[in-house]
Amino acid sequence: MVDLNRRSLFRGRRAPALRPPWARRPDEAFTDACTRCGDCQRACPEGVVVVADGGFPALDFRQRGCTFCGACAQACTPLALDRRVEPAITAVAVIADNCLARRQVDCRVCGDACEARALRFPPRRGGVPLPVLDVEACTGCGACVGSCPVQAIRVPPAA
Ligand code: SF4
Ligand code: SF4
Ligand code: SF4
Repeated sequence: MVDLNRRSLFRGRRAPALRPPWARRPDEAFTDACTRCGDCQRACPEGVVVVADGGFPALDFRQRGCTFCGACAQACTPLALDRRVEPAITAVAVIADNCLARRQVDCRVCGDACEARALRFPPRRGGVPLPVLDVEACTGCGACVGSCPVQAIRVPPAA
């Protein structure tokens, strides 16, 4: 079995990852400051901080989203997570073609999960309403990700 994490470590490269909120940017600045101590992961009450490629923390929204409670940044003594970094997350939600609404099934579950009201379903003539993301309103919190019955939403790391 190929261990992708080890392989990219040996090559000196890391797969792109969605870092915890307030992570220093660019990612090299974050990984330079992060000691891989795991304090942010232990501090997260939602369990959305996981250990990712190279032992660095990343966000996993498959079960829940981030509430921006700040506990991870508060726990980060080297300030790799720094509350002065704004916005906390630059990534936004992306909806894939397997979205049920795009297949003519009336589904608005993700919109209900979005506290920021960034997912709207404008009425559409001749078909069920489709999700439309307001990228300015999306906080990248990931609450929509786990709500989707067909795993059609992701919050990929910003390019
Ligand atoms: S802000 Fe809170 S919920 Fe979000 S990753 Fe940090 S500790 Fe977890
Ligand atoms: S919850 Fe998933 S399937 Fe339903 S509208 Fe949103 S993206 Fe589409
Ligand atoms: S990532 Fe958060 S703010 Fe953005 S669409 Fe999903 S639930 Fe709404």
